Amino acid sequence: MMAAAVPAASLMERLPAVRGRLTPNAPIGPLTWFRVGGPAEVLFRPADAADLADFLAATPMDVAVTVIGVGSNLLVRDGGIPGVTIRLGRGFAEIVTEGETLRAGAGALDLNVALTAAGAGIAGLEFLSGVPGTIGGGLRMNAGAYGSEIKDMLVEAEAVDRRGKTHRAPVAAMGLSYRHSGAPDDWIFTGALLHGRRDEPAAIATRMGQIKAAREAAQPIRARTGGSTFANPPGDQAWRLIDAAGCRGLRRGGAAVSEKHTNFLINTGEATAADIEGLGEEVRRRVHAQFGVVLDWEIRRIGRHPAEVAGA
Ligand SMILES: Cc1cc2nc3c(=O)[nH]c(=O)nc-3n(C[C@H](O)[C@H](O)[C@H](O)COP(=O)(O)OP(=O)(O)OC[C@H]3O[C@@H](n4cnc5c(N)ncnc54)[C@H](O)[C@@H]3O)c2cc1C
Repeated sequence: MMAAAVPAASLMERLPAVRGRLTPNAPIGPLTWFRVGGPAEVLFRPADAADLADFLAATPMDVAVTVIGVGSNLLVRDGGIPGVTIRLGRGFAEIVTEGETLRAGAGALDLNVALTAAGAGIAGLEFLSGVPGTIGGGLRMNAGAYGSEIKDMLVEAEAVDRRGKTHRAPVAAMGLSYRHSGAPDDWIFTGALLHGRRDEPAAIATRMGQIKAAREAAQPIRARTGGSTFANPPGDQAWRLIDAAGCRGLRRGGAAVSEKHTNFLINTGEATAADIEGLGEEVRRRVHAQFGVVLDWEIRRIGRHPAEVAGA
């Protein structure tokens, strides 16, 4: 994404009035699971979809715009995020069920969507209880677990583009594949219509309990982490290759490869984003050297390295 080479104060002056909140120089690390990274030049929390669309339509096109969910798949670099960072809050968290369908705002937590669906007797969305993100992040990443993914349950998504134009995309137009969406990069998802099938709430709750137990046994879910670091290469599993390359427990500064699940990187307390990214690159290098397999980052790395800021 292009950096806007203007100081935060003057960027604020170039932005339109909003009903939500604009904050210059806003810490972003605390809004992410890794708890690292520099500030957003400006953080925008829109009041609702109309506020977001009006803001995008009136913001000069040279201003970089980045959207984040709850940062469960995100590494924010130490130099911070240039331009405007958008975080969808309460105005995007509504969840409404109707028959076997469920409409959710993009800021709704996947867990709350799963719980609401279970309560309404809608089966098929249980897997979302194991994904600690939002519906917006889930649409961008085609989040999935335990054999299901967003792609299987989506009817249509709603989005606003960089110019403030609203779009409605049926699932077939979303280009969803393993941890990937082919929707245009500038789309900010604002909501989704999902479908399931009828089942007893108690049976759905039992399956969600099984997912919770499986996750607690297999993943470091209480750690400062970004979830799976690398996508599984075709026909193999990233964790297995990382383990076989001798990277279990490998450290760099305050970052470590999880002992519990080797495809998870952990901030052990004092890590910088550079420690975490550097450790990930070291893991990639070792896996490539040993097995000739190039691991692709699943975690989204955003923002600038400090050297880029100094040179800006
Ligand atoms: C402990 C742990 C376990 C996890 N387990 C799983 C798992 O089982 N399966 C799985 O799929 N993932 C898993 N993840 C990863 C993560 O939870 C998912 O990718 C989730 O969908 C990310 O949602 P988010 O709201 O946190 O997005 P963020 O991490 O904030 O952002 C991720 C990406 O989505 C984009 N994005 C966010 N919101 C929007 C929006 N409204 N419109 C457009 N783009 C948007 C961001 O720009 C970024 O590129 C796990 C993560 C952790 C920490």
